[in-house]
Amino acid sequence: MLKTKEILDEKDKRLRQVSKEVVFPLSKEDRQQIKKMVEYLTNSQIEEKAEKYDLRPGMGMAAIQLGTPKRYITIVNETDYNEETGKSTFETFIVINPKIISHSEEMIYVEMGEGCLSVNREVEGIVPRYARCTIEGYDMDGNPIKIRAREEVSIAFQHEIDHLNGILFVDKIDPKNPFKDQDKYRAI
Ligand code: ZN
Repeated sequence: MLKTKEILDEKDKRLRQVSKEVVFPLSKEDRQQIKKMVEYLTNSQIEEKAEKYDLRPGMGMAAIQLGTPKRYITIVNETDYNEETGKSTFETFIVINPKIISHSEEMIYVEMGEGCLSVNREVEGIVPRYARCTIEGYDMDGNPIKIRAREEVSIAFQHEIDHLNGILFVDKIDPKNPFKDQDKYRAI
């Protein structure tokens, strides 16, 4: 099981490299790593497991956050929470060599502030993101896939694809004016 301390911190220079395209077939190691990433993200959003295993809650992870400079990302999004059973339902996205092929004009930002498993501090400010985007890439077996993402999932894809290009969300905030042009974008 993946441990929180295995996730690279923003000070680590490896996060700044541009990850390389994956050549299929996917190696056994990459498959195992993807499984661990999904498991971490899922458990991190289940309160009792997050506490038990000391996980930081997160919905997305790029391979480079574990020091692997390859272009693949995972996103786990909670779609439903059942009050009676206390159980959550999740949708999982695993995309190899992801690319944003189109996006909305409309832009949004996370009102509470964007977060990142590699950034262990509170960061004030807004990061404008496309409200909707279409991503193309491949599944683990090399089959082409296309995903239409909206709202928080759209933000997650943009955030994770940025990681593949060595970019962190904090880079997109001007520390002198962290809420610049806020009224131009919709808060979610
Ligand atoms: Zn991140």
